[in-house]
Amino acid sequence: MHATVKSIGRSERRSNLAKVLPNRIVSTRKPKLGQHFLVDLDAMQRIVDALGDISQTTVIEIGPGEAALTALLAKHAGRLIAVELDRVLAAQLRMQFTPLTNVEILEADILQLDLGTVLGSTPGPLRDLRPTGLFKAQVVGNLPYYITTDILLKLFASAARVEHLVLMVQKEVADRVVAAPGTRDYGLLSATAQMYGTVQKLFELGPDSFDPPPKVRSAVFRMKMQPRFDELAVDELGFIAFLKVMFAQKRKTVSNNLKLAYDKPVVKAALEHTGIAPSTRAEAIPLEEMARLYLDLKAHQPAPKPNASASGERAPKTSPRAPKVSEFQASEPKASDPETSELKAK
Ligand code: SAM
Repeated sequence: MHATVKSIGRSERRSNLAKVLPNRIVSTRKPKLGQHFLVDLDAMQRIVDALGDISQTTVIEIGPGEAALTALLAKHAGRLIAVELDRVLAAQLRMQFTPLTNVEILEADILQLDLGTVLGSTPGPLRDLRPTGLFKAQVVGNLPYYITTDILLKLFASAARVEHLVLMVQKEVADRVVAAPGTRDYGLLSATAQMYGTVQKLFELGPDSFDPPPKVRSAVFRMKMQPRFDELAVDELGFIAFLKVMFAQKRKTVSNNLKLAYDKPVVKAALEHTGIAPSTRAEAIPLEEMARLYLDLKAHQPAPKPNASASGERAPKTSPRAPKVSEFQASEPKASDPETSELKAK
């Protein structure tokens, strides 16, 4: 009974969609690869507008899908590189955009793509032998939610080649990315994102803005890539590894988390030197203070402990390493949360 009611609502919604977007062939396939297509015309325009003037810019679109954003971007961008994993969609997009010389459709997994190589040359009639230099791209996309964190980490790591991000993600992820220290949502993802740039949440959308509708709300955020490692005089990999220690267990105090990786006297002294109370929680500490604490600890114990802690949390290895996605998801909603199932579904 419940299922029948649901399916009537769905077909009504589909026919409404057909009125708004008459040229769109509404798919009856079960969503895969996070394929919840944007059908809200106003939202499409707002996302493209958030990029500003892109007439002289290279724009990378992640997951163009059925071209909701791609068509608008193609009109305005100096050069558009759209990266789609789905073979059928990529073929359709290639046919649709063949006449446009400023558009390239790449059938590829965004996670496997080397942005440096992709941005290395200028295509089509613009191609010439002059060096193009290390220009920066704008990155835009209504992301497939099941790999949001992987994509964000990849983009952060490519900060040198990216000027702005304008991304649609699950609302909870956007809230964490932009959260200020001392607020409920502030955690490892917030601190990491804010080490790579300045972030701003633009707007939220409900499930009805997509076809098929996801089970969660969505939000668009903008990020100006402006890494702070030099300003705070910290090394990138070491400091990101340190942030993971600080947020290893969100409910524990900094003192307890730090003891997983540093000797007790070193922790005690560093907290005294920096004036941070041992009972403080990591989410209350701004990045500037985090950096001072890191530098003090590093001065007295250059290599954090390699051993696993008593609580079972793994301390960072002696040499800093790139962050793993699972460590960022530890502070995300638990698997039982309805939103998290969407992290896999979209
Ligand atoms: N941009 C379209 C829109 O707004 O309607 C589609 C967005 S949909 C949420 C996500 C898109 O990302 C889908 O087209 C999906 O096929 C594509 N996708 C999923 N995983 C991908 C990956 N690893 N690399 C590139 N594209 C991917």
